[in-house]
Amino acid sequence: MNLHELVAGAGALSEDLRTIRRDLHKNPEFGLDLPLTLARVVSEVEGLGELTFGEGMTAAALLIKGGKPGPTVLLRADMDALAVIEDTGLEYSSTNGYMHACGHDLHIAMGIGAARLIHARRDELQGDVVIWFQPGEEGLAGADRMLEQKMHLVSGSKPIAAYGVHVFSVYPKGMFGARPGPLMAAAGGFVATFKGAGGHGSMPWLSKDPISPMIQSIATLQTAINKRLDVFDDVVVNVGWVKAGDDHTENVIPETASFGATVRTFSENHSNLIRSVVADVLEGQAKAFGVQVEIEWMPASKVLMNDADAVLRSRKVIGELFGEGRYWDMPNPIPGGEDFASVLEEIPGAFIFMGAAPDGVDPRTAPSNHSNKAVFDDDVLPLGAAFLAAMAFDTLNDQ
Ligand SMILES: [Zn+2]
Repeated sequence: MNLHELVAGAGALSEDLRTIRRDLHKNPEFGLDLPLTLARVVSEVEGLGELTFGEGMTAAALLIKGGKPGPTVLLRADMDALAVIEDTGLEYSSTNGYMHACGHDLHIAMGIGAARLIHARRDELQGDVVIWFQPGEEGLAGADRMLEQKMHLVSGSKPIAAYGVHVFSVYPKGMFGARPGPLMAAAGGFVATFKGAGGHGSMPWLSKDPISPMIQSIATLQTAINKRLDVFDDVVVNVGWVKAGDDHTENVIPETASFGATVRTFSENHSNLIRSVVADVLEGQAKAFGVQVEIEWMPASKVLMNDADAVLRSRKVIGELFGEGRYWDMPNPIPGGEDFASVLEEIPGAFIFMGAAPDGVDPRTAPSNHSNKAVFDDDVLPLGAAFLAAMAFDTLNDQ
């Protein structure tokens, strides 16, 4: 099959995909329970294949069987919004306190578009395609739950490749970007609580002040990262909150002091090592001040590792579909987290970024994903749909 016919096919779908996307944008849902969103997906893909639903969450896997036998490819569209109050001024803005500020509404429409393109040409498909409509990407590990429920195996065989696209409001419209190896960080974090003994602020030697070791720890961590971890394998530790004492109690030493930090790493080695560095620094400071410290780690996402061959294939397909100069090889990974990393740990594949900055907006200064002012141009919907469908055809018909 000439992949280029997918571009024309997707172009014919563009008005329909725009309507779907804008309806979804107006009615965002948050977390693992997205009943209205899933109902819309189901009504839009009806008759295109066999649907399998998740348990305890609104997830669906659509199986489109090809006309010829062969292996399976997995495509993924995430569906959840953020707890952000929209301030874009768009006529189809959300008013329910949630917002599709990460563009997942576009991903849903692109997944539906890819399903239609593949279904219309399924006789030429040498294998099967599974399209995931996934909830709970934003910190709830929806992809991990779908893997646990074996929703990647609905065709009866483990997919040989998995692909996903993510739109960005700060990249030029219609440009695709990725890199082999690490593309996104393992995102996790910890909460540290220093436990001392309260007392009168005028006589600190009679109590155990928990605030001083907390402050020393926060400062020392930044230096320790630089001294203990390889500078060529980046790590970000950023403290997001601190808590100690009460308002207007300047003369009281509180019993506890705590802080929370986000931690981003790009290798398994550093994901492990950072834990011992944090423990060494905090326990060392606690000992120096005669207090106790407890460190509670949150579950972290995995490092998103792109398969080198899958990235090469993506690059080739983008060239065939849209012409040269539409793909850029990113020099560095980005420190955001993404649960598609768990899928790519199980199945080789690629996660590809796609620019969606609106016309007339400088991508370099545009509000970024997750901002309440982020705007994504839905001109990119047919491009994303054609790309996902083309990756399925190119991979399966190349066996
Ligand atoms: Zn996202």
